[in-house]
Amino acid sequence: MMSDTTPANREVIYSAMQATGKLHLGNYEGALRNWVRLQHDYEFYAGIVDLHSLTTTFDDTSSIVPNVRDVAIDYLAAGIDPEITPIVVQSWVPAHSELHVLLSMITPIGWLERVPTYKEKREQLHISNPSYGLLGYPVLMAADIMVYRANAVPVGRDQVPHLELTREIVRRFNNFYGPVFPEPKTLLTEAKRIPGTDGRKMSKSYGNAIYLKDEPETLRQKLRPMLTDPARQRRTDAGNPEICPVFDLHKAFSTQETQDWAAAGCRSAGIGCLDCKGKLTEHMLERLAPLHARRSDWEKRPGDVWQILVEGSRRARLTAQATMDEVRGAMKIRY
Ligand code: SF4
Repeated sequence: MMSDTTPANREVIYSAMQATGKLHLGNYEGALRNWVRLQHDYEFYAGIVDLHSLTTTFDDTSSIVPNVRDVAIDYLAAGIDPEITPIVVQSWVPAHSELHVLLSMITPIGWLERVPTYKEKREQLHISNPSYGLLGYPVLMAADIMVYRANAVPVGRDQVPHLELTREIVRRFNNFYGPVFPEPKTLLTEAKRIPGTDGRKMSKSYGNAIYLKDEPETLRQKLRPMLTDPARQRRTDAGNPEICPVFDLHKAFSTQETQDWAAAGCRSAGIGCLDCKGKLTEHMLERLAPLHARRSDWEKRPGDVWQILVEGSRRARLTAQATMDEVRGAMKIRY
């Protein structure tokens, strides 16, 4: 059982992923792997933010519950230890929503309209009539972090501006009502570049992702046709590993010896791209084997997975309720 008490000297961190289904290698390298390390140094709340998923999937919500389970299994398979890290389903901790409403009262609309991802999402998903929820997404994100009074948030470099908005909301709240919230710091995650099979950023929506749950044969099939240095048309052409997305994956998954072998063989046309991808596949499968084993074990125990989410969210509610008590007091709406 997890303890309900928090060592006073430990800083709190919060991070989360949306309930959009199975996680891919980009999620793993860019966040999860780092979380597994951080959970031993901080009081860490690992969120699964199902309400955020509603901002774009409100017209068909049938996948949300299975997606929450899938993301939880990926967390556990990656090494998140539920004994020390509560895995929290956002909608099971109503304080996220309550704080969101209160913060929405003090957040100027202009701040939200300026958020680049709001414009990007509207364009990418061809949303002509955006919902209030989509615009207010960053306020809910701020509430997610603030409800645990997180001191820091682990983020990739591209997410730093989002956290700045949370800090602005914290400052505004504290100015109006007193110092209730810490300003969360950025814990920068230096991640290796993980391109998708078409060379673009790995993303579920691009259809180029390799998933943590992919079976070895699926992984082989995805890597075989993967984009390489486009100048290397024939086996006899020399290539440049530095512009090849396959080589980016080597840097993340292969030993230094194999990386040297691939780079030299590519530049001298001593190896073919299929040889190079074959070696990469071996290294990836070896690195992912423990994760695959843990994943298939958790998949056989769906009841235990749900129980972990129930327990993690219960523990999170205790922290969140204590925060809300202070928030209501500070705002003079405690009865
Ligand atoms: Fe890329 Fe390897 Fe082919 Fe070179 S040999 S282009 S690094 S796949």
